[in-house]
Amino acid sequence: MSADLNIHEIHWLMEMFNTVDVGLVVLDREYKVCVWNGFMENHSGLLPSAVKDKDLFDLFPAIDEKWFRSKSESVFVLKNRSFTIWEQQPYIFRFKNYRPITGKADYMYQNATFIPLTNTLGEVAHICIIIYDVTDVAVNKKELEQLNAKLEQVSQTDSLTQLANRGHWESTLRQEFLRIKRSGGRSTLLMCDIDHFKSVNDVHGHSCGDEALRHIAKLVKQTLRETDIAGRYGGEEFAITLLDTDQAGALTIAQRLREVIEANPVQYKSQLVNLTVSIGIAAFADEYKCHERWIEAADKALYHSKHNGRNTVTVYDEIKRDS
Ligand code: GH3
Ligand code: MG
Ligand code: MG
Repeated sequence: MSADLNIHEIHWLMEMFNTVDVGLVVLDREYKVCVWNGFMENHSGLLPSAVKDKDLFDLFPAIDEKWFRSKSESVFVLKNRSFTIWEQQPYIFRFKNYRPITGKADYMYQNATFIPLTNTLGEVAHICIIIYDVTDVAVNKKELEQLNAKLEQVSQTDSLTQLANRGHWESTLRQEFLRIKRSGGRSTLLMCDIDHFKSVNDVHGHSCGDEALRHIAKLVKQTLRETDIAGRYGGEEFAITLLDTDQAGALTIAQRLREVIEANPVQYKSQLVNLTVSIGIAAFADEYKCHERWIEAADKALYHSKHNGRNTVTVYDEIKRDS
């Protein structure tokens, strides 16, 4: 502090130092606390007298000492400023968050600046750490991220069945198609359509039809593995990509799905309504120029199942000469 500061000015400076809404901490070369302002006192509950000349890491054992030392050493040695942001490290000092609006955060998110303090000899024997409370920013950003993730999920999901909607399902199929074309592999496509669904609506009503769609979607999910991707392709048509599954494996799964649906009628009010599905299977083949051809192959097999009495499974490979 320059010598021409009078006692009043020092008093004002101290008042500002203690009321400013950022944390100010001065540390010496041994990481002992030299200065501790009002912000630090209020949030830590520790008076300046309680921390003066104490080792920072004894006072705050939760501070990652190795990380903190390496951050500070470069400030001491290189005499450069250094910064930390909450995205990398949520906080340096674990303080409770008292802000009413951002009550959703348990602790105060902090950005920090480390600045070298030069003495009259031009040496850096102390550093100052400025702590900024960025809880509002952090909470807003996290909420926005959560909202975006939710919106993305909603935009990809069919609201009635909670399966992937057609757009999303088809984009995942395209990815898989391109992946296999490039790197090889095997995956198989199932197209599955509910038999005589129009009459379910006609006889039992549209709400029963909706319940049947939810019911079948649930059975599909139960029958598949986590990695398989099921989508609602159209009104009462489901498309399923069985990843890393060949034709024979897909046939087993398709038959199981067909049987599970046949054996589990949907309950609507007091009635049990029987449902069956027809399924078409197409394993990936190199001859498909684009993923749409792959879908067409599975569709042709499905069409064949419909014309062969429904409630049945057809493999495209076995009918392709006739189609
Ligand atoms: P097929 O065995 O040949 O497949 O006969 P289908 O009656 O199932 O086929 P069609 O294509 O003639 O009828 C499909 C019906 O599915 C007509 C449509 O009203 C109904 N549908 C489509 N989407 C929904 C939906 O979201 N809810 C309900 N309840 N019905 C739907
Ligand atoms: Mg149908
Ligand atoms: Mg249909």
